[in-house]
Amino acid sequence: MSSEVYKNYINGEWVDGYDVINNINPSDTSDVVGHYAKANSGHCLEAIAAANTAFDSWSQSGLEQRKNILDFIGAELIARKEEIGAVLAREEGKTLAEGVGEVGRSGQFFQYYGAEALRLMGENTASVRPGVDVEVHREPLGVVGIVTPWNFPMAVAAWKVAPALCYGNAVVLKPAELVPGSAWLLAEIISRSGLPAGVFNLVMGSGREVGETLCTSADIQAVTFTGSVDVGRHIARNAIENMARVQLEMGSKNALVVLNDADLETAVQCAVAGAYFGTGQKCTASSRIIVESGIHDEFVAAMTDAMNNLVVGNSMTPGVHIGAVVDERQLNQNLKYMEIAKQEGAQLVQGGERLTLDTEGYFMSPALFINTTNQMQINREEVFGPIACVIKVESYEAALEASNDSDFGLTSGIITTSLKYAGHFKRHSKSGCVMVNLPTAGTDYHVPFGGRKASSYGPREQGQYARDFYTIIKTNYSKPY
Ligand code: NAP
Ligand code: MG
Repeated sequence: MSSEVYKNYINGEWVDGYDVINNINPSDTSDVVGHYAKANSGHCLEAIAAANTAFDSWSQSGLEQRKNILDFIGAELIARKEEIGAVLAREEGKTLAEGVGEVGRSGQFFQYYGAEALRLMGENTASVRPGVDVEVHREPLGVVGIVTPWNFPMAVAAWKVAPALCYGNAVVLKPAELVPGSAWLLAEIISRSGLPAGVFNLVMGSGREVGETLCTSADIQAVTFTGSVDVGRHIARNAIENMARVQLEMGSKNALVVLNDADLETAVQCAVAGAYFGTGQKCTASSRIIVESGIHDEFVAAMTDAMNNLVVGNSMTPGVHIGAVVDERQLNQNLKYMEIAKQEGAQLVQGGERLTLDTEGYFMSPALFINTTNQMQINREEVFGPIACVIKVESYEAALEASNDSDFGLTSGIITTSLKYAGHFKRHSKSGCVMVNLPTAGTDYHVPFGGRKASSYGPREQGQYARDFYTIIKTNYSKPY
C-alpha cells in the first residue's frame, strides 16, 4: 500500500488538505484503497474563486478546443476502464464488472458532450419591428457547483462535469466523502487534458463542511446535486437564497409491474437485475414488485430459484453477482428495514441476512418479501439495499394505481406481452422514465434522465436536454444600417 496522499485539485495545482480521508474497501476492510487529502471550507472558497477567474476566458473558448478536451478525457476513461473500474469496485463495493461498466459509460458521457460542443446552435428570427434582427442564443452560466453521491462515484460526476464544460462553464466538484478515489482519478485525467487551470476543481471533504460552503456561496451560479431528498431540499433552499440555478436528482421507490400475460423469464430477469444488482444501491432500483394474482405464485417460485443462483461476495472475485454494501451504516440501515418489514407483517421468502465471508466486509444476501401492501413503511421509504417486496394485486388497474401511489417517481416498469397495457402504462405512469419489458435500472446516455415528485427537481440531465440547465438564453436585437 502506498503512503501517498492523493490531493485536491484547485486552480491547476495539487493541494494538500487539513486532514486525511482513509478510503476503505467495503468488501475487505483490511484493504485501504488510498489516502485522500481532506479539504475544508477555505479550500472550497479558493476553488470557487479560481473557477470564477478561469470562467472569463473559458466561457469564450473555441468549440473545437472544448471538443478536443472532452474527447481526450472520454478516450482515456474508456482505454483505462479495467484499471479504474477496479478502483471504483474496491471503494464502492460493486462488482468489478459493474465498476468497469461504469467507467466505460463515464467515458461515453465525455465523448458524447465532446460532439455536442459542436452542435450548440441558436436561432435567428425576424422582429415584429421592421428592419430589426433577433438572435436567440445560449451562453454558459458561470461556476457550477457539483455534488455527487457514493453509489455511482464516476458516472454521476461524468454526466455533470462533461456537459458543464461542454457549454463553457467552470466547475467545482465535491464527491461523496466515502468514495473520493474515482473522482480523484477523473481529476487526474482532466489535469492532463489541456483544460486551462481553474476551469475544473476537485475538493474532497465532508458534505457538512465543503458541500455546505459550495452550495451556499454567492459566487456560484448553479448547483447540480444527486443524493438524498433531505440534503437536496436543504441545497435547494440555499440556492434560492442566492438566486442560483438548482438541479436535484434524488431517491425513489420504483415499481416493476408484472402482469398475468408476462413472459415469466423476462419478468424474473428484470426483477432480479432491477432489485439486486449494484447491491440494490441504485436510485433506479426496483424495490416494489407489483404482481397480478394469476402469475403471483409462479413468479415468486421462479424468483426464489433465480435468487438461489446469485453469488454474493467480494467485489473483486470473478463470478460474484452482488458485491458489498457500501459501509456499516448502510448495512445496519438495511437490516433495520428488514425488521420493520417483518413487524409490519411482510413475509420473508428468503435472504436479508448479514453474511460472513472470507474477507471482512459488509455483505448481505438479497431479500424478497411477499404479502406486503403498498401502505407499509417498507414500501413507502427508500431503503437503498438489496431488498424487494412483492405487492399482489387483482388487475392491471390496481397495479397502475399502486405503482403511482408513491412520494417518488424516478423510474417504473411493466412486464407484459400486451400492447394495450404497455401503451396505457407508458401514458399513465407518473415517473420520469418508463420501461417496458426492461429493468427499471439501466438507461442510455444520449437521452434525458430524471424523475418526478420527490425524485427530481429542475431541468433534466443527460443528452441534449442537459443544455437547458447548463446554459442561459440571451436574446439580441439589432438594427443594421
Ligand atoms: P447524500 O447523503 O444526500 O449525499 C450526497 C452528497 O451530498 C454527498 O457528496 C454528501 O457529502 C453531500 N452533502 C451532504 N450534506 C450536504 C450539505 N449540507 N450541503 C451540500 N452537500 C451535502 O446521499 P448519499 O447517501 O451519498 O447517496 C444516496 C442517495 O442518493 C439515495 O437517496 C439515492 O437514491 C440518491 N441517488 C439518486 C440518483 C438519481 O439520479 N436520482 C442517483 C444516485 C443516487 P458527504 O456524504 O461526503 O458528506
Ligand atoms: Mg470507501
